[in-house]
Amino acid sequence: MGVRDKSMKTDRSDILTCLRSSEDYVSGQQLCDRLGVSRTAVWKVIKQLKEEGYRIESVPSRGYRLVESPADAYSESEIASRLRTKWAGQRLIFFESTGSTNPDAKRFAEEGAPRGTTVVADRQTAGRGRRGRSWESPAGRSIYFTIIVRPAFIPDKASMITLVMALSVAEAIHEVTGLPTGIKWPNDIVVNGKKVVGILTEMSMTPEMNEIQFLVAGVGVNVNQESAEEFPEELRGAATSLKIESGRHFDRAALLAEILARFEQDYETFERTLTLSELKERYESRLAGRNAVVRILDPAGEYTGISRGITETGELIVEKETGETVLIYAGEVSVRGLYGYV
Ligand code: ATP
Repeated sequence: MGVRDKSMKTDRSDILTCLRSSEDYVSGQQLCDRLGVSRTAVWKVIKQLKEEGYRIESVPSRGYRLVESPADAYSESEIASRLRTKWAGQRLIFFESTGSTNPDAKRFAEEGAPRGTTVVADRQTAGRGRRGRSWESPAGRSIYFTIIVRPAFIPDKASMITLVMALSVAEAIHEVTGLPTGIKWPNDIVVNGKKVVGILTEMSMTPEMNEIQFLVAGVGVNVNQESAEEFPEELRGAATSLKIESGRHFDRAALLAEILARFEQDYETFERTLTLSELKERYESRLAGRNAVVRILDPAGEYTGISRGITETGELIVEKETGETVLIYAGEVSVRGLYGYV
């Protein structure tokens, strides 16, 4: 586990960040000056990085140059060295394995972790979805992370954060992979009709229940599963990975950094307006099943209608066959395509 923030620099992350941000050689002296550490400290970190499989060229009169990261490098330093955010992920806690990153993040938030603190795991042994469902979370393949935010707005607005995150993740994946990502309202991301991302937002309120103490948004992305056989049988019909859909392998650290950069921006936009007014158009352009018939699985009864978009506060707008328009609130409801998942 490693904890990173600006006041408690980890030399490793910072050296990797410096090397990554320079195309050319960086001299040992430059690294010492920039990071305020000794020559020996720099040398030790470089040696350690090399042992881990980083290919770093050292030329006596010029310095060091990062040639290649180890395949599939996924660690606190690797992720930190790719971040270009102000607050999202600037404090990073990395676990090789944990139960689930949401409860971990809640615990850190209770202990006072600042906004943007992000818990990342390579594997979850008890990954969770909405309403007590589980999230399949094998090692070495996927991204699992939870970010803490500390909103000043009232609890009524919290459910919109799920939609903000869905938008950020859908656009980040599209940017990195070129795949057509759709959002299945409110919280799932689909590619070619199958689910690649699940999002679970949870909040903690002040004892008076009128303010949000903190909110955590947890995200699971299926990235490098090679084939459907890697998923448990019951998920094969509805789950897929970025690799299965594109035939390409993706760097998880780079994708996570892209997600965090977009979420930081979208969250700030949301915080300014406290509605989805400035994000709605982009969300709707990715809304799976828009203007098509959807089935609404409401505990009070199932019905069908045409999905027309979302409101500025994040409800799904559905036109029933009777012509009546209803607004659907996330909570207990699931949405399905007429013949399948989307
Ligand atoms: P819906 O609204 O579609 O009913 P949900 O949003 O309630 O679904 P989530 O909480 O997002 O569901 O995710 C949990 C569900 O996702 C599980 O019940 C399972 O069917 C499915 N699932 C679990 N693990 C994965 C995975 N790695 N990839 C894709 N789907 C998964």
